[in-house]
Amino acid sequence: MDCIFCKIIAGEIPCNKLYEDEDVLAFFDIAPQAPVHFLVIPKAHIESMAAITAENSRILAKIGEVIAKLANEQHLEDGFRVITNTGVNGAQSVKHLHFHVLGGVKLSESLC
Ligand code: 5GP
Ligand code: ZN
Repeated sequence: MDCIFCKIIAGEIPCNKLYEDEDVLAFFDIAPQAPVHFLVIPKAHIESMAAITAENSRILAKIGEVIAKLANEQHLEDGFRVITNTGVNGAQSVKHLHFHVLGGVKLSESLC
């Protein structure tokens, strides 16, 4: 499959890894948009939030736990932002579900 995040999961493309378990991988974004910017992704290839169903939605709770744990480890106690771009209008460039976690600075109050 021609998916860059599946290649990162498979170890075919290197990443700066923060966390890994049987379901989830987290790594720093290659083009950070904030002092702390990492991505949390399911290991299963799920295209986007639009592909979440009753069968695969449990991964979202797991990803939430990982985000909270990593935000704490990255000293984001003053807050952070979680973004999931979805589809063309959401400006999603990688078609493998991912959650951006941005922090380390006071972010804009604007959503976009
Ligand atoms: P999107 O625009 O799809 O919401 O976000 C994709 C993100 O993946 C971007 O922030 C981009 O910098 C990041 N990204 C794309 N390719 C790679 C890569 O090979 N390694 C890492 N660490 N991040 C990547
Ligand atoms: Zn994938």
